Amino acid sequence: MRIELRHVEFMPQQLEPGILYVSLEFGTAQHLCACGCGSTVRTPLGPAEWSLQETAAGPTLRPSIGNWQRPCHSHYWIHKGSIHWEGSWTEAQVVAGRARDQARLQRHLDQQQKQRGGNWQRLLRFLGLKD
Ligand SMILES: [Zn+2]
Repeated sequence: MRIELRHVEFMPQQLEPGILYVSLEFGTAQHLCACGCGSTVRTPLGPAEWSLQETAAGPTLRPSIGNWQRPCHSHYWIHKGSIHWEGSWTEAQVVAGRARDQARLQRHLDQQQKQRGGNWQRLLRFLGLKD
């Protein structure tokens, strides 16, 4: 999903989806929540608030938008005109989770291997082929 920047002096009454309205005069930006719920998201611009960067590809707004106080609870980044959803799990966390599963499986297989090896050693000992 994409969002484009539109410079305005005053915020319009009716916001259009997919537009980040920026008023440098009033140091603020507004857009409709990217989930489509229709909520207006106000992001004041300033050193301690949001920072806006205009790139050739579109606007970048930092930090992320977290609509915790709204029913949709959506959380996303606006980066170079694209919406990047921040789910409960990020890509990196998914990869880490897969690696953990893989490691668990490997431990399990190693364990089995050891047990099987142990049985074989016991059998050899039983047959008197090994001290
Ligand atoms: Zn929403």
